[in-house]
Amino acid sequence: MLYRTFGKTGEKVSVLGYGNMHLPVVNNDYGVVDVDAAMKLVRHAIDNGVNYLDTSWPYHSTSLEGGGSSEPFVGKVLKEVGRDKVFVATKLPIWLVHKREDMDSFLDRQLERLGTDYVDFYLVHMINSSRWANLLQQNLGDFLDKALASGKVRYVGFSFHDKPQLFEEVLDYYGWSFCQHVMNYYDINFQAGLASLRKAHARGLGVVAMEPVMGGLLADALPEGAKKIFAESGIDRSPAAWSLRWGWDQPELSLLLSGMSTMEQVEESLRLAEEAETPLTSEEMTVIDRVRKYLFSQFEIPCTQCNLCSCPHYIAIRDNFTIYNTTRLFNLTGGIHDKGYDLMLRNSWQEADLCLNCGKCDNMCPQGIDIPTALRKVRRYFDQNRAAWGA
Ligand code: SF4
Ligand code: SF4
Repeated sequence: MLYRTFGKTGEKVSVLGYGNMHLPVVNNDYGVVDVDAAMKLVRHAIDNGVNYLDTSWPYHSTSLEGGGSSEPFVGKVLKEVGRDKVFVATKLPIWLVHKREDMDSFLDRQLERLGTDYVDFYLVHMINSSRWANLLQQNLGDFLDKALASGKVRYVGFSFHDKPQLFEEVLDYYGWSFCQHVMNYYDINFQAGLASLRKAHARGLGVVAMEPVMGGLLADALPEGAKKIFAESGIDRSPAAWSLRWGWDQPELSLLLSGMSTMEQVEESLRLAEEAETPLTSEEMTVIDRVRKYLFSQFEIPCTQCNLCSCPHYIAIRDNFTIYNTTRLFNLTGGIHDKGYDLMLRNSWQEADLCLNCGKCDNMCPQGIDIPTALRKVRRYFDQNRAAWGA
C-alpha cells in the first residue's frame, strides 16, 4: 500500500480510504449495517494497509436527520483492530445545527457512538451557501478552536458541495488542515472543481477525493461509446480502474475514498492501489481525455463547463446543466438514490427554480445556450421525474 503525506498534518495516509457508507446491510435495509459481513471487508482492507476510515452521522440511516449505523459500526472496528491502528474521519452534520451548543453536542455524541476519546479528522459536512451562512452566525470558528484545544479532535477540515467562489471564502475562514470534495476525471469542473482543490493543496491542505468512480457511474454504467474508446486503447483495464488510476495520478489528491460493499470490490481496489505509484503515461492520459470529450459531446445541453457565465442571483448555472446532462447521459431515472450521486443532485438542481429570467446572463455563453430557457428545461425535467424517483 502506498502512503502519502496528508498536507500540513504530516500524517501518512493510505492512498485508498474506506468510505463506510455502502457497507453490507441486513435485509437490504440501507439503514442497518450487517456487522459481521462488513467487519470482514473492513478488516481485510486494514490488514492490507488501509489506514483511513471515513464515516459520518447520517451514513446508513434512512434520513439525513437520524444518526445512522455507520459510526457505531466504525466504533466496533476500532475496538477490534485497536484505536491507534487507523485514522478515523467523521463529520459535523451542519444541517442539524441550529445553535452554537448543537455543535458541541453532536461531537460528544459522535465520540460516544464511535467509542473513542478523539476523532483524527473532523469535517464540517456538506458545506453549501445556505448552511455556511448559518454556521457563521453560530460561530463555527469558536467551536473548531475549542474542539481542537480539548483534544477531542486532532485536525479539522470540511467537505463541500457548492461553487468555487464559496470554496475560496471557506478556505480563507479558518486554518483548515484538509478538505474533501467529489473528484474524478468526469467531474473536474463540477462544483468547486479541480482548480479549487489545487489551490487548497497549494495552501498545505490534505485533499480527500470522494466519488472517484462517480458512485459507480464511471464503471460498468459508462456509456458504450466511452467503453469502446477504453477498449480500443489496447490496454487491458476496466473503466473503474481507469478512473481510480486517474485520481491517484493527481498530485493534489492525497487519497481516494471508496465505499466498498463486497469482498471483490475490496480486493480489486487493494490491487489497483498497488499500481498508484506508477504514473499514467501521456498516451494513457490522452485516452482518458478522449473519453471525457466523448462524454461531454453527448450532452443534451451543450455546456462545455467553461464557467464563463455568472448569475447575480447565485444560481449555479454550470452545475445545473452538468447535473441534467449527467442524469440524461447515464439514464439515471429511477436509480439516483443507488448511485451515490443523489446528494449532488439534491444540493444543486433546485437552484434552477430560482431563475428570475432577468436577462443578465444574455449572450454570456460562447456555446450560444439560452441560459434561462435551458434552466426552465432542467426544472421541468426534474419536477416531472422527482416524484417517480422518490426524490
Ligand atoms: S436569467 Fe436567470 S440565470 Fe440568468 S442571470 Fe437572471 S436569474 Fe441568473
Ligand atoms: S458559459 Fe455556457 S458553456 Fe460555459 S459554463 Fe456557462 S452555460 Fe456552460
